[in-house]
Amino acid sequence: MAEINRAVKGTNDILPHAAFGWRALENRLFETAALYGFSEIRIPVFEHTEVFNRSVGDTTDVVQKEMYTFDDKGGRSLTLRPELTAGVIRSIIEHGLVNGALPVKVCYEGGCYRYEKPQAGRLREFHQFGVECVGAAAANADAEVISLARQLLSSIGVEKIALQINSIGCPECRKHYHAALKEYFYKHTDTLCATCNDRLERNPMRILDCKSPICSEIADNAPVVLDFLCDDCAKHFDEVKAHLDSMGIEYTVNPHIVRGLDYYTRTVFEFVSGDIGAQATVCGGGRYDGLISQMGGPSTAALGFAMGLERLMLVLAAQNTALPEEPTCDIFFASMGDKARVKVSEISSMLRDEGFSVQTDICSRGLKAQMKYADKIGAKFTAVIGDNEIETGIIRLKNMKSGEEKELDLNSLTDSLYSILLALSVDELTDAVNN
Ligand code: ATP
Ligand code: MG
Repeated sequence: MAEINRAVKGTNDILPHAAFGWRALENRLFETAALYGFSEIRIPVFEHTEVFNRSVGDTTDVVQKEMYTFDDKGGRSLTLRPELTAGVIRSIIEHGLVNGALPVKVCYEGGCYRYEKPQAGRLREFHQFGVECVGAAAANADAEVISLARQLLSSIGVEKIALQINSIGCPECRKHYHAALKEYFYKHTDTLCATCNDRLERNPMRILDCKSPICSEIADNAPVVLDFLCDDCAKHFDEVKAHLDSMGIEYTVNPHIVRGLDYYTRTVFEFVSGDIGAQATVCGGGRYDGLISQMGGPSTAALGFAMGLERLMLVLAAQNTALPEEPTCDIFFASMGDKARVKVSEISSMLRDEGFSVQTDICSRGLKAQMKYADKIGAKFTAVIGDNEIETGIIRLKNMKSGEEKELDLNSLTDSLYSILLALSVDELTDAVNN
């Protein structure tokens, strides 16, 4: 019984006050992405399980341990999306966008589901904002996408964040690299965890991303992929760095970044915060030139990234950056008696049509309780409507902050309220500037 009053472990409610801040932040992200030509795409929360097995990779932690997979009543194996790239690419292929004008530039925001051990910055339902750029193979595409990630972070007020980049090459470089990795890790099979021993044959690069402290210590001294890049991949990486330099974007090359998903090729990158503890990567991405053909589409270069919104919220909180506040109600009408209540309905609907935010008593409270409520919700102004106000057509508008009162004619209420609210916001702005 207790269960019905408790959210599932690893999930969070975003309550009304916080949700306003989330929406403001999401709007800012979509607006910034639009500056680079990215448009929103919306895809389902679940897909055929195969969509993720094929793309994310069946030797990854995500596929091996973290997916919410279930059979539906028709016997299909479905999975709640652990990330959105796979579904977005499935959609772009399915609807033929990949055969149209390239590059296709899309962005998205949505919930992701991973069965992980819940802790700070690690949830079972979390939210990602991400972008995918499909059909762009040139190095300036990598730089532009990285620049967008950086601008997204600064647009929401993230101050200190370090960019780390690496290149993990193409399948050709990978052949030689895998051989070197196997040779190195074979010397450590006794100490590597069971999962990594299994990965050693199938996908040795995955060992570099293992979260076990023993495996990561061994991985620290493993050969690095940068030493195995073919000429084309090395040239591409040099070009990416030259573009980043020309854009004044600071980065460090971290040869240990391989990313947790199998589909990456060439450039990979992470934005890492020093303020939020162990789960420090707020944004991760890279190029995935092989994914579209692997998923049954035409061979097409592509790249993208995703950022975890909960982790971004942790960064903003650690910086003491306040989220935008919900605007308060412009005017609360208190009413006395049934006739007044009808009049209040009439006035309120007229004002709301004009764009004012209006609240009234819908709980049949006494006058004192109504005023208390108006104070609690932070109404900017209040007015009491009773028989007298209906008869004279004059109301007394009370400024809840200063206590000042003013008589207003109901016939010209819209105009007077408009100028009064405008004056109030000018005052507030002046105050904010002076403080
Ligand atoms: P980590 O190494 O922290 O497990 P990851 O490599 O699994 O991250 P990605 O799959 O690249 O992460 O997802 C991109 C971003 O989504 C991460 O950088 C992070 O901000 C966020 N993220 C990933 N998993 C979680 C989670 N369980 N809870 C909250 N945010 C997450
Ligand atoms: Mg992970």
